Amino acid sequence: MKTPLEAPPEQIKAETGTKSEKSAASVIDTSKMSAGKAAALELAESSRDPLDERGSFASNLFVGKFTFDRIFPWPEQSAEDKTAGEAFLAQLKAYLHENVDADEIDRTGEIPQKNIDDLFAMGAFAIKVPKQYGGLGLSQVNYGRAAMLFGSWDANLTALVSAHQSIGVPQPLLLFGTEEQKAKYLPRVARKEISAFALTEMNAGSDPANMSLRADLSEDGSAWILNGEKLWCTNLIKAGVLVVMAK
Ligand SMILES: Cc1cc2nc3c(=O)[nH]c(=O)nc-3n(C[C@H](O)[C@H](O)[C@H](O)COP(=O)(O)OP(=O)(O)OC[C@H]3O[C@@H](n4cnc5c(N)ncnc54)[C@H](O)[C@@H]3O)c2cc1C
Repeated sequence: MKTPLEAPPEQIKAETGTKSEKSAASVIDTSKMSAGKAAALELAESSRDPLDERGSFASNLFVGKFTFDRIFPWPEQSAEDKTAGEAFLAQLKAYLHENVDADEIDRTGEIPQKNIDDLFAMGAFAIKVPKQYGGLGLSQVNYGRAAMLFGSWDANLTALVSAHQSIGVPQPLLLFGTEEQKAKYLPRVARKEISAFALTEMNAGSDPANMSLRADLSEDGSAWILNGEKLWCTNLIKAGVLVVMAK
């Protein structure tokens, strides 16, 4: 399907063509970087959605290309996956309706600790974390269905549980963590500890490359010392563990 809003074909070709065969990392000079920095950069670049015929609907939007055939007909959740999420979603819905007073949370500005404890016990903070680490092991689609339930009932809880497991510690660990990191942190963030994500700074938001917070190794090499300042860190005041983006 083509719409009048779509960018001209030459522009799309110019913006996607160079990236289709090579990963962007291969055009960045990594020769003067430390091995760790070069490896981190290449991992980040290779994780990009390709901006070509393999790209997703969303990634193509960034080059003005509307690939509607990727979203129509809308992909249905498989019956098997739906069944896997059903019991948890029913439990979550009943819990929210019977035990979460969204107006009271808005009035007081506080989420009762009992709600947090109950949701941890239910696995609502670890929906996609595999069972071996204490999570529910459900799919991204079932996670999305849970987010819809939270969103239909209370925006405060929605931000709490989604910041925790969308940008907080569980998701980056699942994607990029070593087995040792997963074994150490996933059980904690699955069942007892809220996490948060610290990227934004005064001069860095949409453009993370602009950030200035530094991670310096301590003299004895036993710890990283963070020097700098972060802003707008959802969940920070309740978090026991953070993902911190640093240079
Ligand atoms: C409720 C809330 C919760 C948040 N939680 C967190 C959190 O947990 N952790 C965290 O690190 N941060 C958090 N943030 C910060 C958020 O991630 C940043 O606000 C966001 O990254 C945008 O950065 P910025 O505010 O510096 O805006 P800017 O980057 O200055 O952007 C300002 C405007 O310019 C536009 N713009 C920017 N660059 C371009 C471009 N290249 N092309 C076209 N338009 C552009 C943007 O779309 C925007 O409209 C939170 C913010 C809010 C509002």
